[in-house]
Amino acid sequence: MNRIYNFNAGPCTLPLPVLEQVKEEFLDYQGKGMSIVEMSHRSKEYEDVQFGAANIIRKLYALPDNYKVLFLGGGATMQFSMIPLNLLPEGRSCDFTVTGSWSSKALDDTRKVGKANVVFDGEKDNYMALPDPASLKLDPQAAYLHITSNETIGGVEWHSFPESGDVPVICDMSSDFASRRLSIEGFGMIYAGAQKNAGPAGVTIIILRDDLLERCPDTLTAYLNYQTHASKDSMYNTPPVFAVYMVKLVMEWLMNKGGLAAAEEMAAERSGLVYSAIEKNSAFYRCPVAENCRSKMNVVFRLPTEELEKKFVAEAAAEDMIGLKGHRSVGGCRASIYNAMPIAGTRALADFMDDFAAKNG
Ligand SMILES: *Cc1c(COP(=O)(O)O)cnc(C)c1O
Repeated sequence: MNRIYNFNAGPCTLPLPVLEQVKEEFLDYQGKGMSIVEMSHRSKEYEDVQFGAANIIRKLYALPDNYKVLFLGGGATMQFSMIPLNLLPEGRSCDFTVTGSWSSKALDDTRKVGKANVVFDGEKDNYMALPDPASLKLDPQAAYLHITSNETIGGVEWHSFPESGDVPVICDMSSDFASRRLSIEGFGMIYAGAQKNAGPAGVTIIILRDDLLERCPDTLTAYLNYQTHASKDSMYNTPPVFAVYMVKLVMEWLMNKGGLAAAEEMAAERSGLVYSAIEKNSAFYRCPVAENCRSKMNVVFRLPTEELEKKFVAEAAAEDMIGLKGHRSVGGCRASIYNAMPIAGTRALADFMDDFAAKNG
């Protein structure tokens, strides 16, 4: 078996011990003579999986009792609709920070439902900078403040979060979920598509504060209403069983490594290796993102020419480092280095970057 270093942005690399466990127990889950994906989602075995997944997330984030953990389908993208439909009451508006592709998409969907007030728009800086959180002019009457903690495409990450008093912060944490310590205070809702840091595609993890459930209008159809899922422990309909099962294993793996504190340390080490390689070879590589908001999950960088970028991506792939091409909307190169990327993977990349610069600079 030759496991390569996979720098794709999502779906992406997952922890090898988890993949091995999935393989090990796939045909015969806990001696039941069938796999987990063949079982009823009402079975005791599956219930243990889903409650186990919710509990390990509760533990990782030390969630107080007034937060629910939900597992929904439709990706993080589905939340761009569900959030305003449920949590933006008629006649009110929400505040929005537009920091890149994902928050722009979230804003577009929100505006189909209700009013959104843009308190920061990064477009003038090509989405390569974030404001000082304290400088934001927030509306104290806003229904919520929506932010995207890490812009997966632009490589921009909030290092500290805006404080909005009684206005709940709703955060798209898809690409830096479970990668750093976090105090849940102030957050009304966190949501994350699993396929970056938490598991395979197919499930979205939602952490939602109870009081917000009171806003969900009865006029919404069942699936679209958070109340439905909260009152049925995300078992109103068939949950994405395989994805939830893998999320449980990935979160347990992380807990065994030391939880969010360890994730944060590893992320600093991994990203530090790649950013250092950029700095060390600054005549050759350039990171366009402002220093105070560089992502520890998605490191974006440019080479002197597009030809060299192509060559870089191809030669890296030949050395078993794949997925380094930047998103088609922005070009350049991007190394996505989530929790499951071994430190050795980023070290190999940094060494390759040194070599490539020496040969082509
Ligand atoms: C990947 C991503 C999404 C979209 O997730 P889907 O599960 O594909 O809908 C949304 N927001 C961010 C920050 C992402 O990285």
